[in-house]
Amino acid sequence: MFDSLVRFVREQYGTNEYIPLHAPVFRGRERELVLDTIDSTFVSSVGAYVDQFEKDIAAFTGVPRAVAVMNGTAALHAALKLAEVKPGDLVVTQSLTFVATCNAISYCNAEPLFVDVDRHTLGLSPSALEAWLDEHAFIDDHGNCLTLAEHRRIRACLPMHTFGHPVDLDALISVCDRWHLVLIEDAAESLGSYYKGRHTGGFGKIGVLSFNGNKIMTTGGGGMLLTDEQTGKRAKHLTTTAKIPHPYEFVHDEVGYNYRMPNLNAALGCAQLEQLPTFLDSKRTLAMRYIQFFKNADLQPIVEPDGCHSNYWLNGVICRDKVQRDALLKATNDAGVMTRPVWTLMTRLPFYTHALQGPLSNAKWLEDRVVNLPSSVLPAGA
Ligand SMILES: *Cc1c(COP(=O)(O)O)cnc(C)c1O
Repeated sequence: MFDSLVRFVREQYGTNEYIPLHAPVFRGRERELVLDTIDSTFVSSVGAYVDQFEKDIAAFTGVPRAVAVMNGTAALHAALKLAEVKPGDLVVTQSLTFVATCNAISYCNAEPLFVDVDRHTLGLSPSALEAWLDEHAFIDDHGNCLTLAEHRRIRACLPMHTFGHPVDLDALISVCDRWHLVLIEDAAESLGSYYKGRHTGGFGKIGVLSFNGNKIMTTGGGGMLLTDEQTGKRAKHLTTTAKIPHPYEFVHDEVGYNYRMPNLNAALGCAQLEQLPTFLDSKRTLAMRYIQFFKNADLQPIVEPDGCHSNYWLNGVICRDKVQRDALLKATNDAGVMTRPVWTLMTRLPFYTHALQGPLSNAKWLEDRVVNLPSSVLPAGA
C-alpha cells in the first residue's frame, strides 16, 4: 500500500528526487515586480505594491478592507488587540492548531481556553463550545461572558480553518452571538476556501491570512487582516506605529506596532495572487486524485465539509490507528516523499498544559491518526 502511495505521489510530480510537503512555485511575474520594486527604491513599509496587494486581497476575498502586515502571527496579535482582548482574559480556541494561534493569545497576556474540534471539519466544534459554556460560564450585568468559577472574562473565540477546511461557521456564529464572544478567524491556511459561497476570514470581526513560504501563495513572510472599513482603519493605525498623519511631525497616540508588510514582499504577493486561481485549480485536481487513489484503502482521505469549497492547501489522510500512522510516516519519509503528522496538541506543550480546557477526545483521536501528504501545486501541464 505505502509503496503504491509513494509511486502515485512521484507520478504526480514527475520526479525521482525528494518531494517536499509544500514548496512555493514562481511561474508568473515575480521577478519582474520584485525588480521593479528595487528599481523604485520603495522596498520598505511604504509603496505602491503594498497598497495594491491590500486592494487585490480585499477584492478576492470580498471583504471591505484588508490590512497587510509582516506575518500571520503579527496579524493574529493585532486582531486580538483590536478585539479588545485584555490581560487576564480568556480566548476560546482549539488545541489542534499551529502554535501561532495560541502564541498570539499569550502576546496579549490573555490565556487560551481549549475546546474540542469536530472530526469532519478538524476545526473548533460549536457544540463542544456550547457545552463548555453552558456548564462553566454566565453573562454578567454588563454583558460580559465570565467563567462561573473565577469570574474570568471570556472575550473572544478564535477558530482555525484547518488545512483550508472551513469550520462550521453558522453554528459557531450563533454560539458566539449567544455568549457575546467576538469571533476572530484564523484563516491563515484557508485563502481560497469558501463556506456556503462566502470566503473564509470574512465572517468574524476580523479574519487573518498568512503568506508564509509554505502557504498556498507566499510573500516570503506576510500576513493580512480582513475586516470592515472602520476596524481596518484602526488596524492600519495600530500596525504602523500609531502615528497621527502630519506633513512633518512625529506624534503617536498609543503604543503601536511596526508590523507593516514591506513593499518588496507585497510585490511578490501581487505576482503570486495573479496565479492564485491556477494554484487553486491545481490543488483541487490533486485532491481529487488522492481521493480516488484512497477509494478502496482503509485510509480515509480528508475531504471538504458539506456546503464548503476548500482550497485543499494540505491534503491529508486519517489512519486506522497510531501504529498504521507511524508505518505510513516511516515508509514515505524513508522513500524521500515528505509526509508529516498533525501538530502536537497545544495542551501537551509545557506552557499550555495547565490551560483551561474541555474534553478533547476528537482532537486526541485526530492527533494519533492524521498524516499530511505532499500538496505543492503540480508541475505545469500535470
Ligand atoms: C501559518 C499559520 C499562521 C501564521 O503563520 P506566520 O508564519 O506567522 O505567517 C497562523 N496560524 C496557522 C494555523 C498557520 O498555519
